[in-house]
Order: sequence, then C-alpha cells, then structure tokens
Amino acid sequence: MVEVKLENIVKTFGDTVALKGINLDIKHGELFTLLGPSGCGKSTTLRIIAGLDFPDSGTIWFDDQDVTYMSSSERGAVLVFQNYALWPHMTVFDNVAYGLKIKKLPKDEIERKVKWALELVKLSGFEDRYPTQLSGGQQQRVAIARALVVEPKILLLDEPLSNLDAKLRLEMRSEIRRIQRELGITVLYVTHDQEEAMAISDRIAVMNVGTVEQVGTPKEIYESP
Ligand code: ADP
Ligand code: ADP
Repeated sequence: MVEVKLENIVKTFGDTVALKGINLDIKHGELFTLLGPSGCGKSTTLRIIAGLDFPDSGTIWFDDQDVTYMSSSERGAVLVFQNYALWPHMTVFDNVAYGLKIKKLPKDEIERKVKWALELVKLSGFEDRYPTQLSGGQQQRVAIARALVVEPKILLLDEPLSNLDAKLRLEMRSEIRRIQRELGITVLYVTHDQEEAMAISDRIAVMNVGTVEQVGTPKEIYESP
C-alpha cells in the first residue's frame, strides 16, 4: 500500500500534449478514479505511474521515494489492461503464477500464493482451465488475481469493466470494491463513465484534455456546479 503523488507531470507525443502538468495525490488505501472523456490523458497517466512510460518533466512519488525514472518492476505498480491480456496458451494457474515464476520463488510458495489469489477472486477450482473456457467476468477475475498475487503497492485498472455486459459490470464493480477493502490496497481506477465513478470511488479526479479540473469525493463532485 502506498501514497502516490504526481507533481507537474508533462507528457507529449509529437505535437500532442497529452498531460499539461498535472498534480495528483492518491492516499494510502483509497480507491481513486480518473474520470474523463476519451483522449483526455487517463491511460497515459496510468502508464506513467506504472513505469511503462516516462514523463517529459515532473516527479512521481511513491510515499517519500522518487520513482519517476524507476522501472516498472522496481516500483511495484501493476496495471490491468482493458482486454485483460491473459496468455491464451496457459491455464488459469499458469497465468496467475507467471509473475511469481519470473521472481523464481519456490514451487510450494507459488502454489500457496496462487491459491490465495484465486480464493480472493472466488475462482478456486478453475486452476486447470484455459482463458477461452471462461466467461468475460471470470477472465477479468483471473487478470485481477494475476495482478494481486505479486502484492503490488498500487493496482492500476484501465476501464476494467468496459468489455462486460451491464449485469456483469455491476457484479464486478462490487467485487473490485470488496477486494480493495479486504486488502486495504491503493487502487487507481480509470473510467469515462460518470455513474460508475460515482458508485465505486473514494475520490475522483475529473480530467479534461491533459488537465485535472477537479478532485473530490463523489458527493463533492456531484454537488459542485
Ligand atoms: P484516454 O486514456 O483518456 O483516452 P490517452 O492517455 O490514451 O487518453 O491519450 C491522451 C492523448 O495522447 C490523446 O490525444 C492520444 O491520442 C495521445 N496519445 C496517447 N498515446 C499516444 C502514443 N503512443 N502516440 C501518440 N499519441 C498518443
Ligand atoms: P516480461 O516483460 O514480464 O518478461 P513478456 O516479455 O513475456 O514478459 O511480456 C510482456 C508483456 O506483454 C506482459 O506483461 C503481457 O502483458 C504481455 N504479453 C506477452 N505475451 C502475451 C500474450 N500471449 N497475450 C497477451 N499478452 C501478452
């Protein structure tokens, strides 16, 4: 669990200024949402926090550590992509175990951690299935288990519900909330759906073309003019 601060983050792609010097402060253990229309810079912000991309200028803090130019694995932030990016040729167990095998953990420890992660997302018993044998909601649970099994300092979720039907969206919304509360983990969540942001978040940052326009609780955002 970590507090994440962005100070004056600028990111350009050629002539496009994706982030025009944004400031954010995401507290320990909160579910913080970036809300805004397509192209406003939400994914770029996630990628920069994950260490998959680097800002032109500005500073990223994880607690009191400057992680701006640290690699993704060093800083311990894990990004779950919109399309889940499960490996189709690997079983559920192997998908979830992947990050632990890379770390060369002992086999019994890997088994224990994978069991824990699959219990957390309520997929015990699905170890030997392949992703194509799972529903969209179950695939997403695997993606979340794979992210959490390495015990990240912050979990980054990029439009996690966008590929699900309306019923599953509601179900996974409360599942993500349950898991976040159970672990007390810091979560940064991205959506363009205002209702979703209002329902799931502790706090929301409203973004618009490369800027943060407003930060507050759902109630504060709802009641502001
Ligand atoms: P959002 O996630 O809010 O839809 P993005 O962060 O993906 O927004 O994009 C912000 C802006 O930066 C957009 O104008 C987008 O076209 C641009 N952009 C993002 N990634 C790249 C890239 N790799 N190359 C060029 N432009 C990019
Ligand atoms: P690493 O960089 O962790 O050593 P890889 O180079 O195998 O691992 O993969 C880099 C990233 O590409 C992974 O984090 C994963 O999200 C994605 N990836 C790799 N292979 C696949 C695949 N077959 N299907 C979906 N995503 C993949």
